[in-house]
Amino acid sequence: MLKASLEKTRNALERTLDSNEFSLKAEDVGRIISVSGPVAYASGLNGVTSEELVQAEDGTLGIVASLDPAKVGIILLSTGYSLKAGHEVKRLGRVADVMVGEELLGRVIDATGKPLDEKGTLPHLERSPLEHPAPAIMERLPVASPLETGIKVIDALIPIGKGQRELILGDRQTGKTSIALDAIVNQKDKEVICIYAAIGQRESAVAKVLHELEEHGALAYTVVVVSSGQDAPGLQYITPYAATSIGEYFMSRGRNVLIVYDDLTRHARSYREISLLLERSPGREAYPGDIFYIHSRLLERATHLRQDLGGGSLTALPIVETEAQNLSAYIPTNIISITDGQIYLSPDLFSKGMLPAVDVGKSVSRVGGKAQKVAYRDLVGQMRLSYAQFEELETFARFATRLDDNTKKALERGKRVREVLRQSRYSPLKDYEQVAVMLALTEGLLDAIEVKEIKAAEQKITEKIFRDLPHICQKIRQGDKLSEDEKAALLASCRQAVAPIAGTME
Ligand code: ATP
Ligand code: MG
Repeated sequence: MLKASLEKTRNALERTLDSNEFSLKAEDVGRIISVSGPVAYASGLNGVTSEELVQAEDGTLGIVASLDPAKVGIILLSTGYSLKAGHEVKRLGRVADVMVGEELLGRVIDATGKPLDEKGTLPHLERSPLEHPAPAIMERLPVASPLETGIKVIDALIPIGKGQRELILGDRQTGKTSIALDAIVNQKDKEVICIYAAIGQRESAVAKVLHELEEHGALAYTVVVVSSGQDAPGLQYITPYAATSIGEYFMSRGRNVLIVYDDLTRHARSYREISLLLERSPGREAYPGDIFYIHSRLLERATHLRQDLGGGSLTALPIVETEAQNLSAYIPTNIISITDGQIYLSPDLFSKGMLPAVDVGKSVSRVGGKAQKVAYRDLVGQMRLSYAQFEELETFARFATRLDDNTKKALERGKRVREVLRQSRYSPLKDYEQVAVMLALTEGLLDAIEVKEIKAAEQKITEKIFRDLPHICQKIRQGDKLSEDEKAALLASCRQAVAPIAGTME
């Protein structure tokens, strides 16, 4: 009896010893020496590597940013006030990373992967490092297919291609976020995954964006990565990298991705704050010397991959806020030089109600017409130049008393172009609708219509065109060139559409 009981106890003891409960685990542990706001210094932590994640005993996460024999500089990812000198801090044995996967679609997370919405916890997902080398030149394809925003002034005059980096910049409240959101909303049913990275924004502004995405059915194909202005500068700093890693996950699976960084000015400010506290020497405007490098490293990750690598693409729309229209400040000039073009939003146009307030003269897409569908490119090839000429002519004509007929005509046409380029929010136009309207415009159909009636005429055209000529619309959509007959048919349909309005004018 006693023997059996002893045997039982022994078995139980053996089982316990075999289980992991008592196994030895070596941990590299250090101690916090000092905490100064968003950064901390620690001693110990032998063998720690740069960008490795560490965790303090109060749960605060950090990223190793500087390695000194005497102390390790750590960027803190939360502004917990509980972290104190003397606390233990341990290595987590992996570099900073983020969760990636299909399950993130429709979700709102922070850069550490914590869900911020009320849709419950996320399942266990694959992780990908925040920093990732950009694809090599040989792995990339030239930018050649359009990423349509549905905004006429952009698709016609500053076309964006898949894999391109196009900067949106302008002063406060000039409609920067609106352009990016309209572009996201326009990707519905286009097989493009969108990622919106909100960096250091007001919480109310983020809530507004989320509401708008939800309302327009765009959240389902979008991942929102958020850090608000109240979050730790460290968290704000890693937000665009986390968003890009999530984007790369989809790109590496052959998908097209559109990523918006809203905005990199705030990102630069949070990096400046961290760098100053890490005792790095400040350069121009007190930004650290490597600010250019950190942004170029981020934006270099946008590309179009070769077909044998899946053919996916990552198109980046970074946003930058200017102050008093100063494009030559440090951060704007840096990012202008890194990107493939910029969309400049002017507060003057905004205050005149010329929305979207795109200043065509100061905006450019260096990829240009290559990223436009053939039928569209044929139509608007000359438009940019003639529109710029019109703007100058208009300024000049204010002082002239007598104008010759040609000048008058050019002015009247220019006013109509401007009216067509005006567009309210969330009213994206399909490619064939844009082609039809631009055809009517360039062929002079709209010249007989009063400027205030232009919007109505435009609506008549877009309502009618697909009903009348679905096969031509299909051709435009596929990127085919239109024959002369097809163009004539399109024009005839436009003429019929605007006839009632043009009729009342005459
Ligand atoms: P911030 O500097 O605060 O980030 P922002 O430059 O991102 O501002 P938005 O928030 O996009 O600007 O837009 C400012 C306001 O202008 C919003 O109320 C928006 O609805 C309005 N707006 C922008 N574009 C248009 C448009 N095309 N038509 C009508 N209203 C517009
Ligand atoms: Mg904004």
